[in-house]
Amino acid sequence: MHQLRQWNNYGLILLTVSVFIVASFAARGQESAVSLTGVIDFHAHAGPDSRPRSLNDFEAVRRASQAGMRGVVLKNHFTMTADRAALAMTQVSDLEVFGGVALNRAVGGINPEAVRQMVAFAGGRGKVVWLPTFDAEFYVTRAGGSDPYVRIVANGEPVPELLEVFELVAEHDLVLAMGHSSPEEVLLLIPIAINMGVEQILVTHVFGQDANLQQMRRMAALDAVMELDWLAAYSGNVSIENYVDAISAIGAENFLISSDFGQAGNPDHATGMTAFIQALREAGLTASQIDQMARTNPARLLGL
Ligand SMILES: [Zn+2]
Repeated sequence: MHQLRQWNNYGLILLTVSVFIVASFAARGQESAVSLTGVIDFHAHAGPDSRPRSLNDFEAVRRASQAGMRGVVLKNHFTMTADRAALAMTQVSDLEVFGGVALNRAVGGINPEAVRQMVAFAGGRGKVVWLPTFDAEFYVTRAGGSDPYVRIVANGEPVPELLEVFELVAEHDLVLAMGHSSPEEVLLLIPIAINMGVEQILVTHVFGQDANLQQMRRMAALDAVMELDWLAAYSGNVSIENYVDAISAIGAENFLISSDFGQAGNPDHATGMTAFIQALREAGLTASQIDQMARTNPARLLGL
């Protein structure tokens, strides 16, 4: 009798332990399923391009759509993507595809006419104007290169054509993305753009531009959204902890997350966004912080 009761106790303990194990596995399983519903990738490279890409525009948007994403911004450093976005939209029924123009030398640098034409293209998918990226003065000179570059600031003032570009961005409700400019240039230009009526400002991968926390705080105080890209974390240039520290210090309302994927050999954009969200979650960010950066902020910039 005594022995039987002891066995019953053992059984009860065993049952409790197994229920606990099963429950915690179930909870973990629930946690690990990242949903891309409503997620927008603001920085998607795809081919054709003059750099090797892992997939073309059509393949990229089909995959994003299959993964349940809400939107993708196609970015090319050398050519306008509003037309490509309009074509890509024909491949999917439930995905918002946007394009833009990066004001590098291939389109004439700070060339207002490139912006005017982008906006005029049928389909109306041109939404983003990036300041120079690979041809930015900061980008070229920081690397010690001797390549020609596109100047956006001279003698402490924006070059005159840039003011015309700001006017067009304001008039057509576009997103002004700061490209590969220096944090000092970004902080000089944001108030000027705002004064001219620009409402949506995105600081392109702010860590890649060597901005420090104090500069990021000033950008946030100007209501700019700062981009954090998965490529930099994936390739080991920035740690997730650095991202999380900045988000915790400044607030998720001033950031958005993007993949910056598309390079030959790298996974597709949806896979990148999933991994990014997973990594931020594991680093301790809340669902609402992630929601703000992956869904709310990019949608607001794009007017969705
Ligand atoms: Zn990129």
